[in-house]
Amino acid sequence: MGISSPALWTEFFERYYREEINRLAYKLKSGGDGRSLYINFVKDLAIFQEGKLGEELIERPDEVLLHAEKGLVNVTNIYGVSLEGCKPRFYALPTARKILIRDLRAEHIGKFLAIEGIVRKVTEVRPRIVQAAFACLNCGSINIVPQEDSQLRQPFECSKCSTKKLIFLPDQSVSVDSQRLKVQEYPENLRGGEQPQTIDVILEGDLAGTVNPGDRVVINGIVRAKPRGVGQRKMTHMDLYIEGNSVEILHQEYEEFEITDKDREMIMQLAMSEDIYERIIRSIAPSIYGHEDVKLAIALQLFGGVPKKLPDGTEIRGDIHILLVGDPGVAKSQLLRYVHRIAPRSVYTTGKGTTTAGLTATAVRDEVDGRWTLEAGALVLADKGVALVDEIDKMRKEDTSALHEALEQQTISIAKAGINAILKARCALLGAANPKYGRFEKYTPVAEQIDMSPTLLSRFDLIFVLTDEPDEERDRRLVDHILHSHQLGEMLERVKNVSAEYDEDYIKARAVRIVPEIDPELLRKYIAYARKTVYPVLTDEAKKKIEEFYLSLRASAKDNSPVPITARQLESIVRLAEASARIRLSDRVEEEDVERVLEVMKRSLMQIAVDPETGKIDIDFAISGTSKTQRDRIMVIKKIIENLEESHENGVPEEEILREAEMEGIERSKAKEILSKLKQHGEVYTPRYGHYKLVSRV
Ligand code: ADP
Ligand code: MG
Repeated sequence: MGISSPALWTEFFERYYREEINRLAYKLKSGGDGRSLYINFVKDLAIFQEGKLGEELIERPDEVLLHAEKGLVNVTNIYGVSLEGCKPRFYALPTARKILIRDLRAEHIGKFLAIEGIVRKVTEVRPRIVQAAFACLNCGSINIVPQEDSQLRQPFECSKCSTKKLIFLPDQSVSVDSQRLKVQEYPENLRGGEQPQTIDVILEGDLAGTVNPGDRVVINGIVRAKPRGVGQRKMTHMDLYIEGNSVEILHQEYEEFEITDKDREMIMQLAMSEDIYERIIRSIAPSIYGHEDVKLAIALQLFGGVPKKLPDGTEIRGDIHILLVGDPGVAKSQLLRYVHRIAPRSVYTTGKGTTTAGLTATAVRDEVDGRWTLEAGALVLADKGVALVDEIDKMRKEDTSALHEALEQQTISIAKAGINAILKARCALLGAANPKYGRFEKYTPVAEQIDMSPTLLSRFDLIFVLTDEPDEERDRRLVDHILHSHQLGEMLERVKNVSAEYDEDYIKARAVRIVPEIDPELLRKYIAYARKTVYPVLTDEAKKKIEEFYLSLRASAKDNSPVPITARQLESIVRLAEASARIRLSDRVEEEDVERVLEVMKRSLMQIAVDPETGKIDIDFAISGTSKTQRDRIMVIKKIIENLEESHENGVPEEEILREAEMEGIERSKAKEILSKLKQHGEVYTPRYGHYKLVSRV
């Protein structure tokens, strides 16, 4: 037998928690609804009685928690309030008691421990009966039956008169608020396509309703097991769940990283090196040849811009969104997977989504008890990290509309079946899309090729087109790089499985090209450190540089020429420049940062935003798929229809429109194309086949 007893707990509370208990009593007296006393395990319980009481709590929590509850009631407080029904809740368990969800085993059943993870689902908060009252229909006496399971336990017979006729009295039963969560392992700790493991957690009393999907939490509580199966058919296989005793919500962005003094020194040294940007580029997916622009952009995305809140309440995101569009087989998916490995926090998914919640979030009926459940999708789970979405062009309709809000406001609103929630999705998105015609067509706007609306596209700070065009010099180097990687991989496998035929030095020398220059673990810490501690401010020189760039491009837009750049790109430049400064751990955004990101921005624009007809940069062409030239033509065609409508009440014959258009210098094929687009967008309609009318006047 151990030392735990109500009296010993009273002694413990009186020694360490007098003040907190008085505060709790005051809250109760003034009608507050908290009934919890929080006890720091490592700080207080672990040093009391040489830690013996703490050990007993861990080994026999059911019994010891009852002692603690009773012991708490016996502590006097200055307000003379009864502490009956108050719950001692324990947090900050020793590291050895923090168990990975995937490591939970039979030996843990009935023990007190902590698990850590991300909240994937929460049910509605609903009362659960803990003591059911039944009235005997014969003698009228009340029978009380304690409840533990989700199934209501009924008395077999009346304890007084033994009749079997009893009715349930909800009003006289005792209930507590109850909620079930699903907690999932941290997505970034999963390697190589592992499925995340989850565990159910029950939270009751004042713990219910305190967490949201997407929250990162430590749950301290007792591991329980219940037999699988429904109704009467119970099986010997058990499902584990945790009866929560307390919840710690982790607020700090990268607190899971421990950065030692030695780490900090190495990070400082890296940041000071002349060629730090190149070194980081060489540390991102070194087995993938080329794509330096994309790799630099990814580096900037990982370090991130500065999220801001302006005095008028406006919030501006610091997260940088990037879209990779391109031919199949150009390593888009590989890049995404690599970023998943180095980002301090990330979620990898495909547009089709692997869960019911898909990319964003949804309210669904729980399959077990029919309660409404709020489930987080990838973007919520990636809060404060990077969401990697492959094949984003294949996402579902619901996701498309939610994505607008998610990318700009960084929230996801759910209003369905009485669930009203706004979940946080403060993540950067790195998406990859395959063009719908199989290959990327140089002269067709991006918007048309991937079925993404112009407004959504405009939320990406950078869009890259990765094409696979034969180029002898580049092909030669690519082949060499890929074959070299494979050869090295083969040698390593041979050494591992057959014989040490290649010595270490030889392998090392050959691996140089493929080993990341900065160790991935250090790079993760570097990123976490920079995001946490570096908040750079634009210098006047940097401001001037951006201004010049913006104004010069805008000026070229005079005389009715295309719009080369909009305020959106301006914000993107600022974000990217901040990220560039963060890489140097610089408190100032300097001219060099602006120059660096303008290079990237210009190259991205050149790939997507050059109107093939004029050769000029035209954002509208990239984003909306209509260039200035096209827009002019559309106007001309609409005018033609308008003019001809007067003489054609039942619609203007196509042939006439084409003829008029030709006289205005628009080829017949172009004019035809425009007509079908106008019809598609509902700007014209055909009252009769081949006859057009405008929906509204020009
Ligand atoms: P995508 O998603 O663009 O269709 P993947 O990422 O699936 O392409 O890449 C296809 C294969 O081609 C991968 O095995 C990848 O490693 C290889 N590959 C393509 N481009 C490169 C490159 N530049 N360097 C190294 N490997 C490449
Ligand atoms: Mg792919």
